[in-house]
Amino acid sequence: MKSEHPIQTDLLIIGAGPAGLFAVFEAGLLKMRCHLIDYLPQPGGQLTEIYPKKPIYDVPGLPSVLAGDLIQNLMEQIAPFAPGFTLGERAETIEKQEDGRFLVTTDKGTRHLAPAIAIAGGLGVFEPRKPPISNIDEFEDKGVFYIVKDPAEFANKKIVIAGGGDSALDWAIYLAEHGSEITMVHRRTEFRGAPDSVEKVEHLASSGQIKLITNAQVTGLSGSGRLESVTITINDNQEQIVKTDVFLPLFGLSPKLGPIANWGLDLDKMRLSPTPSTTVRMYRGFMPSGTSTLMKAS
Ligand SMILES: Cc1cc2nc3c(=O)[nH]c(=O)nc-3n(C[C@H](O)[C@H](O)[C@H](O)COP(=O)(O)OP(=O)(O)OC[C@H]3O[C@@H](n4cnc5c(N)ncnc54)[C@H](O)[C@@H]3O)c2cc1C
Repeated sequence: MKSEHPIQTDLLIIGAGPAGLFAVFEAGLLKMRCHLIDYLPQPGGQLTEIYPKKPIYDVPGLPSVLAGDLIQNLMEQIAPFAPGFTLGERAETIEKQEDGRFLVTTDKGTRHLAPAIAIAGGLGVFEPRKPPISNIDEFEDKGVFYIVKDPAEFANKKIVIAGGGDSALDWAIYLAEHGSEITMVHRRTEFRGAPDSVEKVEHLASSGQIKLITNAQVTGLSGSGRLESVTITINDNQEQIVKTDVFLPLFGLSPKLGPIANWGLDLDKMRLSPTPSTTVRMYRGFMPSGTSTLMKAS
């Protein structure tokens, strides 16, 4: 049961990705208290959700940093300003109150009141492109994963990877080199990924380190409580059952702007205009003039 009293703050930030987190720092310097809302269960946006172990090379002053470490550093940097978080909830509606403040309500009914709002929602909420297998929802997080957050969890396992792009190729190579038994399934014979990765996968396949099945698709999943096997259909007519611990359908992620699209913002190709060279986008009408430096700062 949600509290009757809304959470009150000076600056409400929608989106706790790197842009939203850094906005806390900048607002903190102006002595503004912040509260962040994010649909994901943890702060960090795409960096913690999609690629926490990937090195990033284009952060000024850091020659190389893992995405997850960058977020940890940002959390440390903003800790002195003690921001509040509403996580695992999607900001759904914004209503202007008589006193000029904004009331933001989430999909779970949590209400937030603030005189200023910063929208740092990136491209919105990322959702995986799922293959059309009727019972796939049943096995999600019980053997079926759409992203590899921590490769250590997949070491030394039997894994079926489906897809033909960079993500499928790179994880097939990495996991095969870290002791997993990989079966790679692709519906064509040509791959879309980087030529070097394609060559590596073909080499691993010809040397028997991974099993490569082309002109094929995973069409069925079974197991009791957890995934135990997948059905692979080859050339549309031949079925093969493969025992597996994990199925990774890596067909990419598509961003859904979600409720942000309904808030009357000036959007151009899913971006707020004007778009500065930064990733924080402010709802300009929502910012009191005295805090406009925030727009530049983040
Ligand atoms: C695989 C991959 C590798 C990348 N590598 C690099 C790199 O090396 N260098 C680089 O500079 N960039 C890289 N990027 C791009 C980088 O991740 C983005 O530019 C960055 O995440 C943008 O930060 P952000 O805070 O604006 O948005 P995001 O990180 O997208 O965070 C936005 C947050 O807003 C939340 N949100 C959206 N709508 C709502 C709502 N209505 N209610 C609640 N929460 C909401 C989302 O859940 C999300 O957590 C990469 C991206 C990917 C996918």
